[in-house]
Amino acid sequence: MMRFLLVMLLACVALPAHAEWVRRVTDGIMGTRITVELWSDDRAQAEKGIEAVLQEMRHVDETMSTYKPTSEVSQVNAKAADGPMHITKELFDLLVTARGYSELTDGAFDITYASVGYLYDFRKHVRPDEAQITRALPAVNFRHVLLDPVRQTVQFSQKGVRIDLGGIAKGYSVDRGIEALKALGFTRAYVSAGGDSRIIGDRFGKPWMVGIRDPRKEAGEVITRIPLVDAAISTSGDYERYFEEDGVRYHHIIDPRTGHSASKVRSATIIGPAAVRTDGLSKTAFVLGPEQAMEIYNRIEDIDAIIVKLDGTVIHSKGLEPGR
Ligand code: ADP
Ligand code: MG
Repeated sequence: MMRFLLVMLLACVALPAHAEWVRRVTDGIMGTRITVELWSDDRAQAEKGIEAVLQEMRHVDETMSTYKPTSEVSQVNAKAADGPMHITKELFDLLVTARGYSELTDGAFDITYASVGYLYDFRKHVRPDEAQITRALPAVNFRHVLLDPVRQTVQFSQKGVRIDLGGIAKGYSVDRGIEALKALGFTRAYVSAGGDSRIIGDRFGKPWMVGIRDPRKEAGEVITRIPLVDAAISTSGDYERYFEEDGVRYHHIIDPRTGHSASKVRSATIIGPAAVRTDGLSKTAFVLGPEQAMEIYNRIEDIDAIIVKLDGTVIHSKGLEPGR
């Protein structure tokens, strides 16, 4: 009997013959680095999983990139000020989601930032002057995006409004990638696009360890490692896309109230159930500053936050306090 039990136990913990972690890193989709890592006992199935994730990323890029004039979002920017415009269910739902983050963050997250944001080119060190910002700023307000759920249309309430989903697109694509893996039966996997990651399962009894980069050090150096199982994590940093001029750092998160680069923290990391959510909330700290943002983060039940302030000190949400 003992022996039988032992054999049963062994059978339960024994791993399939050629099971292994398979990892692929891909550059160039959505202008960022995509990493997929998964556990599989079948190499062909693993490749199929990875391809399915990359396919999701390409799809999001094709639909939502403002660099591609053919994307649905570019079409909306070209036409939605002229009248109600029918859009796909996918884009409609994401616009509703985006509006939700605007409401949750007192307008710090706002996809119409792009009405001013398009005047910046961080790679070419181009930024608008004060007169340009003053002219463009009235078009920045998430309330200018009118959504009709019955007709599934979007309309801009005035000319000059532009949207850009760059603040949630990567998180959203990571969620889609994870859903694709789940549908194929994967139970242990990691998907990341730039600063947005999500994990399913654990690493056989151990959590995944995800490092948070030190904003003022080389990419490999981390301020801490967070143990995660079945969770998403997003980091926004002022080191991602920026240039400096006369000692001022201009980077890719824009304060919707001023049209200027939002520089109230060095980085913000959000941990939560889905990457679209953690991505959508990681910009807020830059716009509102560490204290006001942390108040909002502490109010939201399903997330935690770690902020690196301008002086380099680190603060975290109540849920991450020791002993909890
Ligand atoms: P990444 O693009 O690497 O995921 P972030 O998650 O920090 O970086 O998102 C930065 C992007 O968010 C910017 O490139 C821009 O597209 C968008 N963005 C900038 N300011 C805002 C804002 N106030 N609200 C919403 N999205 C913003
Ligand atoms: Mg992001």
